[in-house]
Amino acid sequence: MPEKKLKFIVIAGSIMSGLGKGIVSSSIAKLLQARGFKVTQIKFDGYLNVDCGTMNPFRHGEVFVLDDGTEVDMDFGTYERFLNMSLKGTNSITGGKLFQKIIEKERKGEFLGRDVQIVPHLTDEIKKWVVDAAKDNGADIVIIEIGGTIGDIENGYFVEAMRQMHFEQDNMVFVQLTYVPSLSPGEQKTKPTQHATRLLQSQGIQPDIIITREQEKLCEDSKKKISTYCNVAEDAVFDDPFLQTVYELPLSFEKQGVYQQLAKRLKLDEKKDPDLTEWKKRVRQIIEPKEAPLKIAIVGKYTAVKDAYVSVKEALVHSAAAVNCGLEVGWIEASDLEDTKLFDVGEVLSSYQGILVPGGYGERGIEGKIRAIEYARKRRVPYLGLCLGLQLMVAEYARHVCGMEGANSTEFNKKTEYPVIDLLPEQQQITKMGGTNRLGAYECTLKKGTIAYSAYKSEKVYERHRHRYEVNPSYVKALEEKGLVISGTHPKNNIVEIAEWKTSFGIATQAHIELTSRLEAPAPIFIEFMKAAREFRDKPSKTAAEDHGE
Ligand code: GLN
Repeated sequence: MPEKKLKFIVIAGSIMSGLGKGIVSSSIAKLLQARGFKVTQIKFDGYLNVDCGTMNPFRHGEVFVLDDGTEVDMDFGTYERFLNMSLKGTNSITGGKLFQKIIEKERKGEFLGRDVQIVPHLTDEIKKWVVDAAKDNGADIVIIEIGGTIGDIENGYFVEAMRQMHFEQDNMVFVQLTYVPSLSPGEQKTKPTQHATRLLQSQGIQPDIIITREQEKLCEDSKKKISTYCNVAEDAVFDDPFLQTVYELPLSFEKQGVYQQLAKRLKLDEKKDPDLTEWKKRVRQIIEPKEAPLKIAIVGKYTAVKDAYVSVKEALVHSAAAVNCGLEVGWIEASDLEDTKLFDVGEVLSSYQGILVPGGYGERGIEGKIRAIEYARKRRVPYLGLCLGLQLMVAEYARHVCGMEGANSTEFNKKTEYPVIDLLPEQQQITKMGGTNRLGAYECTLKKGTIAYSAYKSEKVYERHRHRYEVNPSYVKALEEKGLVISGTHPKNNIVEIAEWKTSFGIATQAHIELTSRLEAPAPIFIEFMKAAREFRDKPSKTAAEDHGE
């Protein structure tokens, strides 16, 4: 049987970052997936880090983790949330990975006699990588996002590789995402778009489709100008409008006829109808929920940079929609809760119906998070802890219920008398930082009769991890004796994966369950959390009446 011809859609940026290329790429991918095509998404990142695992969330946003343990750019979270599928580490091609590969080859002598160059050696490597990754994912159509803006030194070799690929085959479409500012209402400026396209043209690429982000809807005149100056047909210039939720974008693109333009160029069936029924239903539940919003507090360390917790936020969006409630997220800086004179914990948290402590590293804000957890437990406010949020739930319980004063993680206090959280044994000898956390999907066995079991309705689940510390096995018995429920464990070495309170809704997972929450398949424990928050909201007097647990 002849090999099926792969098709490629390349999304390039323009003169400004932060326009939402990831969301545009995923929305395009969704329109194709909804028509039954097998799609996959690839991201080029020009930075010289092998992966973003060692980057600070303040600088780079969330570090996303795939099933296979690869630490990837947060755009992968968007891809997976839109497509409701798990991608592979090879879909992320970074400058660091490429150079590492090329230099390894050179040292082995694979280029013997040749001077090794960006063109053709690095660009050939990129083209081969793209095709291999697409085949590995069983894709018919590959959507490739070029990270960064056009004209960056960092991503120049990716742009060049795509230019060559386009020259070598006719099954490729270039989409450029640009920005159209308005100086005052009705005064749209297309010059930045014109320049951005010129820049791309100067690198040998003519975009087939232009999508514009703007402050106000693209007017006919601007559309015409962009078409004339950028060599793009008028019906191939599209709007990327402001929407209530990012999940609306595929629906907006569908209405505007983006698929038909892609189909024309990729020789696909233009008349093929999409199945977006489930997607539309979920989007409606976000935009017009039946019930009032649930107020959830995220008590974190990187709250000034919302991108640091994007998967947590999205998992809340998915699960609120699933229970048909609105959502209001409060961002609470954990270290603020440490200074009682400034902030009374109860005063800050009393208006919330759910408290969430997400993952994190380092000491800052730890005591504030513990205070928030103590408040949640004593006031019976539903609590959800993720990774560090599990470790601190255990430390709080040890301190205040088991009488282990000063119990802590050795990450924060090496000399604590009660090291209830300690380094994983395999972490003891590790000195290198990159890619050395316990990473990726691990099995977890669930105990029947627990919140975890009722959420998953299964005894065996897999969730993604990124951590170095664990609940110290030598304290598990003491914690259980005082009522902490260990509802999930890793079957091989009994790592505590999930813990719960008995007296009110409180659950925490060592895994980052937020990473696999998708609009069409929200994380099961998040749904339970939202149901508990709704119950707490509707019956506050009963559930919040008494303090307990001391
Ligand atoms: N710092 C903790 C650890 O390394 C938690 C990590 C996290 O929350 N991702 O185990």
